[in-house]
Amino acid sequence: MTQAWTLKSRPMGTPTGDNFELVTLPLDAIGPGMVRIANRWLSVDPYMRGRMNDVKSYTPPFALGEPMQGGAVGEIIESAAEGHAIGDMVLHMAGWRDEVVIPANQAQKLPALGVPPQAFLGQMGMPGMTAYFGLLEVASAKPGDVVFVSAAAGAVGSTVVQIAKARGMTVIGSAGGEDKCAWVKSLGADAVIDYKAEGSLLKKLAAAAPNGIDVYFDNVGGEHLDAALGLANERARFAICGMIDMYNTGAPTKLRFAARIIGARIRIQGFIVSDYMARASEFYADMAGWLQSGKLTREETVHEGIGSVPDAFIGLFSGGNKGKMLVKL
Ligand code: NDP
Repeated sequence: MTQAWTLKSRPMGTPTGDNFELVTLPLDAIGPGMVRIANRWLSVDPYMRGRMNDVKSYTPPFALGEPMQGGAVGEIIESAAEGHAIGDMVLHMAGWRDEVVIPANQAQKLPALGVPPQAFLGQMGMPGMTAYFGLLEVASAKPGDVVFVSAAAGAVGSTVVQIAKARGMTVIGSAGGEDKCAWVKSLGADAVIDYKAEGSLLKKLAAAAPNGIDVYFDNVGGEHLDAALGLANERARFAICGMIDMYNTGAPTKLRFAARIIGARIRIQGFIVSDYMARASEFYADMAGWLQSGKLTREETVHEGIGSVPDAFIGLFSGGNKGKMLVKL
């Protein structure tokens, strides 16, 4: 048997615990080429909010009443697949539950990088890869650039800060609250904006970036995107990674500085991390080097037990995490 979270109803606005239901389901028998995995770590990620809506997107919506999916790291506890042994730790997409039977080719063995397994759900996994390719490829960020990154205390944002510093850039982060801002500063950011504190975001960014910004790594959208447009230098590059400010409201964003895209020749490019999966080895090579030289710090906010998954997920929208939000089973 497995305990699995299903989507009971589609959230209207910010999700609540009532949108989810924990059910007990029988597990499939293990057939040739399959493995049984006991999940040890579950990931909750902002993109999952989009999959809770019944709309066409780059990933299909979660089906009502069915177990949800998401990144997970688990231990193989039964195997009928060559090359997959009991005790192997694997990364797969059958999260939001405690145990699963899946084809072994859907379970990736963790690379040997000397980091704990849950790191492959955060800095050394999908969010880290998003930061790496978003900054260096999508925004073409280079040494000497002034980089502004929103949600800078989150999984993606905190990695953007550190990669940018490792590559010789000036970094301005934005985060909610003094504690998070102090942490982002400790990661090496040259300036940090507390967007929740009194005052206009545009003025705070102008004070932090007196010579403007060359790159904006957008995790938030809304007012952050607008302020970045207002302060962008000529030929600035924007990597549009996420717009968490509107995931629950769907409200349109008012961009007062949109016309600057023309005069300042700003390049704005959205992306999905899966576009870069074929280049994962480049990411691992650079990240391993920065890890060994002490240029990367990893932080996690950990909820305990299968019962806590919805709370962990909902907490992403009120800033309940520093670094990667995880559930430990
Ligand atoms: P985070 O770890 O950054 O968690 C979300 C954070 O967003 C919160 O901690 C909170 O921090 C901040 N936040 C929440 N609501 C708001 C708001 N209304 N305004 C400003 N900040 C807010 O999540 P991830 O690192 O996993 O993801 C960051 C972004 O990247 C998301 O938008 C996500 O959708 C996107 N993403 C995109 C991918 C792609 O392929 N394009 C892949 C992975 C992620 P605070 O306390 O500072 O407010």
